[in-house]
Amino acid sequence: MLTLPPPDLPNRGAPVPGAVYLVGAGPGDPELLTLRALRIIAAADVLVYDQLVSAEILALVNPAAERIYAGKQRGNHAVPQDDLNQLLVNLARTNRRIVRLKGGDPYTFGRGGEEVETLRENGIPFEVVPGVTAAAGVAAYAGIPLTHRNYAQACVFVTGHLKDGSMNLDWPGLARRRQTVIIYMGLSGLSYLCAQLIAHGLPADWPAAIVQQGTTPKQRTVTGTLETLPGLAEAAGLKAPTLIIVGEVVRLRDKLTWFEGR
Ligand code: SAH
Repeated sequence: MLTLPPPDLPNRGAPVPGAVYLVGAGPGDPELLTLRALRIIAAADVLVYDQLVSAEILALVNPAAERIYAGKQRGNHAVPQDDLNQLLVNLARTNRRIVRLKGGDPYTFGRGGEEVETLRENGIPFEVVPGVTAAAGVAAYAGIPLTHRNYAQACVFVTGHLKDGSMNLDWPGLARRRQTVIIYMGLSGLSYLCAQLIAHGLPADWPAAIVQQGTTPKQRTVTGTLETLPGLAEAAGLKAPTLIIVGEVVRLRDKLTWFEGR
């Protein structure tokens, strides 16, 4: 078993009762948890967790902790966000160690900011523990660097979540060369996304990839172009969670794959 370093800095102590810990669980592989996350989940009294948190990670949580599922799937919010914000406040007032565990990083498309705003308004002490966001974890395990001196000097993260059936994104800004675009929650809008990028100037044969359940044993990657990827992803029967990576860095995958097929 791992021995954690001694708590010798102010933010390294054991979690305290009455506080809320907003903890990033990373993209799936439990080995990608931070030491801080591990220390805090092992000492939790109450765990409020999302659908994206893997079973292997839940197994590292204090077995005596009360577990509350705040499941979030697209279009199926088990607990509405306002109720969830208030729930965290109410739980903290029971003077226990509350851990809000989220997939990836809490401040990257995780609504962590909204939860912390409510905690601050209510005078509840909190700490935010960053996690490996899907972009970083999935790219590494799929053999696709996010930036590369020869291909991309910038990297943009966007949400492809459809609001009212369409995606309201800055298409001219996204359809740029020498940049990588990472799309979270984009599977159902994949065809629309690829069509928009082509319509705004990227070539139809621009490289693109989609990765399902990255960093887990179920990781699957489909690569193609803006033109072919939607059809290939559908033929492969990919299911959420998936991350879409658009840009010339995708070409490097042939050389840099290491995780799949292990
Ligand atoms: N806070 C999270 C993102 C939450 S939004 C983070 O920082 O990663 C949920 C979206 O993240 C999913 O729809 C998917 O696009 C992406 N995602 C999260 N985990 C993933 C994984 N293991 N593989 C692929 N995509 C993932």
